[in-house]
Amino acid sequence: ELEGAASGPTSDAGSARPLFKGGSLVVSNLDMAYGELDVLKSVSLTVKPGTVTCIIGPSGSGKSTLLRCLNRLVEPKGGDVLLDGASILAMKPEKLRRRVGMVFQQFNLFPDHTALENVTLSLTKVKGIPAQEAERIAEARLADVGLAARKHHRPGSLSGGQQQRVAIARALAMDPEVILFDEVTSALDPELVKGVLNLMADLGQRGMTMVVVTHEMGFARKVADQVIFMDEGRVVEGGPPAAVFDTPKSSRLKHFLDEVL
Ligand code: ADP
Ligand code: MG
Repeated sequence: ELEGAASGPTSDAGSARPLFKGGSLVVSNLDMAYGELDVLKSVSLTVKPGTVTCIIGPSGSGKSTLLRCLNRLVEPKGGDVLLDGASILAMKPEKLRRRVGMVFQQFNLFPDHTALENVTLSLTKVKGIPAQEAERIAEARLADVGLAARKHHRPGSLSGGQQQRVAIARALAMDPEVILFDEVTSALDPELVKGVLNLMADLGQRGMTMVVVTHEMGFARKVADQVIFMDEGRVVEGGPPAAVFDTPKSSRLKHFLDEVL
């Protein structure tokens, strides 16, 4: 209901400060398997509107699979996910993916299209927005991620950090209620990581609901409203960052933090 306020997403100035819609997610007893391999085992968590949830845990613990379930790139075998109170399992996956965006470690941009075209294309093709309107939205979202001056560049002439910003602008342009980020800084050169993390922190400040799988413990501690620790397909522990990082309860989380901090 915040959308459309004073300098909302329709403002085309570079200084636009959109106030995002910020949807909620309730994940309950989610099970998922790849064939015989149980990968998610009764995962439950709640994501409140306009909050940042960071998911941490060792490689192979099911973090990416959980995100994939949330916009149905894979289908859970049990449990449910409510988006603003409605089961995502009853939605058409294409419709769901307009409401729940995703940004990946590999940016998945079209190499032969400019930054502007990369953002515009999903608006015209997926949302059926007329070209001129799509371009206006795309320019505003590229300005939001600090890339107004690079809009006519192709991915190959942008840094990894800039390419990831284009991918984030593309997700934002769809006007989603939630954005899922899967290790979006893991493929970046170290000096480019901070800029992307700062942008994500900024989006959180502006009310976007975000679920962020990350190895950046500093980001999780500083930006997250809640941190969820997963291991072997289960949520082992979760809570405010201070509780998770400073007073871990389970030996598995203690061990994990010893390894990564
Ligand atoms: P994480 O993101 O925490 O590293 P994943 O969700 O990628 O974990 O993987 C969880 C488990 O599922 C791992 O054991 C992994 O090998 C397995 N897995 C992931 N993707 C597939 C797939 N497409 N087919 C079969 N097994 C998979
Ligand atoms: Mg992963």
